[in-house]
Amino acid sequence: MDFRNSSILVVDDDTLIRELLSTWLKHREYGVKTAKNGQQALDLIQKHNFDLILLDIMMPDMDGFDVLKALKDMGNSTPVVVMSALTDLKSVVRCIQLGAEDFLSKPIESELLWARLNASLEKKHFRDAQQTWLEELKLLQEIDQELNTTLDREAISWLTLHWGTEKTAALASCIGAIDGNQLHVRAMQGIEAADLPTLTADKQLREVTQTLVPANGRLHPEAKYRLTLPIHRNAIIRDVAIFDLAAPVSETTMRFLKRLAIHIAIAMHNAQLYADVQAANKAKSNFVAMVSHELKNPLTSIQSYTYLLSRHGAKLPAETQANYLSIITEGATRIHNLALELDDITQIETGLFGLKIEAVSLPDVVLNVVKMFGPQIEDKHQELILDLPEALPLVQADAKRLSQILTNLISNASKYTLENGRIHVSAQLVETDAGRQLQIAVKDSGIGIQPEDQGRIFSQFFRADDEKVANVRGTGLGLNITKKLVELQGGEIGFTSEYGHGSTFFFTLPVIEQETAVTARAQPVA
Ligand code: ADP
Repeated sequence: MDFRNSSILVVDDDTLIRELLSTWLKHREYGVKTAKNGQQALDLIQKHNFDLILLDIMMPDMDGFDVLKALKDMGNSTPVVVMSALTDLKSVVRCIQLGAEDFLSKPIESELLWARLNASLEKKHFRDAQQTWLEELKLLQEIDQELNTTLDREAISWLTLHWGTEKTAALASCIGAIDGNQLHVRAMQGIEAADLPTLTADKQLREVTQTLVPANGRLHPEAKYRLTLPIHRNAIIRDVAIFDLAAPVSETTMRFLKRLAIHIAIAMHNAQLYADVQAANKAKSNFVAMVSHELKNPLTSIQSYTYLLSRHGAKLPAETQANYLSIITEGATRIHNLALELDDITQIETGLFGLKIEAVSLPDVVLNVVKMFGPQIEDKHQELILDLPEALPLVQADAKRLSQILTNLISNASKYTLENGRIHVSAQLVETDAGRQLQIAVKDSGIGIQPEDQGRIFSQFFRADDEKVANVRGTGLGLNITKKLVELQGGEIGFTSEYGHGSTFFFTLPVIEQETAVTARAQPVA
């Protein structure tokens, strides 16, 4: 180990010994200060941090024993090597009892001096390292205690800035989430939001780094160095803390910050889990509220009309009875449909949804669905145009679920298009990242979707806050299920819409290339 630059105090009333030791030590690049008596030594010890004291025992006024006692009283643990004549064994023993670490016999032998000096400095080095490590551990324990009191990302961010600043004496600091290479700051200290420069951080950053900071990107005008602390979760860097400093920090501080980053990452991860659980809880409550709302209306009409029929049925005209019965049937159908949709959602979300993927002819499925909608479309005097190319390859799909997707999209197109409107169903082959796919589009000339609603259209229970939507029956579950069904079959769904003018919903499905399609036709899946 290299202890050059260690600072050593030589205390001796003999000028010659002081000078000799001073020359030897300086020659070996140690930092040296000298004192000619005990009092001078104590004065220097109070002003400087020495790594070692070479102390003569016999001095006038305040001798070596007094210095050792004073050091003990001050709680100063700088190692002391006492110097005495070999004949003075008793004094050496007393000094060791008073806390001296070692002794050198006078006249001083240079080889022995270096050996004792190095041994003492080495011991001090390990003691200091152990002390720093213990202090660090204690601090991390305190930090953990505070971190454990919160599950809020914002609070954790502030705590990070607080401890980081305390440890690094940062002039200004900030922390935020990283998106691309851009840092979206969540909390800052020592700088106003308005003065915040555009901050970037390398997404690949693994370790704490300390770099010079360019003048135009500083958080503080006097900052020269920047500490960048990446906070990882699941091997991905999610947050970055930045500390701008006037002077660089030591290796020890860098090591501490590295450990701090691990503790912060765990706290951030727990906060994220908590937020997820809360969101899931809220979603569940919303779900239960919506379901009970959806059940209440049809159940109320079923109850009321069965009551009326049971009390007055016989007296009521046949036409009224038929009307009541059709209301009851409609209510029961709504509940049944809701139960089917909820069943689909549960199965999809629990991963129990089974698909029977086979080679399916799209036109066959489309024609069946369209036939089913005949009466509804006629009722609204709407026009449904089918535009399917002649030779379409087979698609890889579950026929029943493909029919459900088309039913939902065509039903919506008809429901949300006024009388005399037009619905257009088409298909075309497209090249996607996943290979050749068939894209099916359902276009309507209906009410369209407001731009602010477009981001929520596939969410569970979303229904536009629009009178024209409220007038039409629906649960807000159809598109959510449709999207999942498309994705489960290896496709994608999207839409374009212009409020007041109409919407086009389109989805893709993987095609079976020609040879396969023929085989598939020849061997229908059972
Ligand atoms: P539902 O039709 O039962 O309300 P969906 O999940 O199928 O549920 O649709 C959710 C919402 O999206 C609808 O309530 C409506 O506001 C809007 N929407 C869906 N399809 C269309 C469409 N073709 N044109 C206009 N709005 C639509």
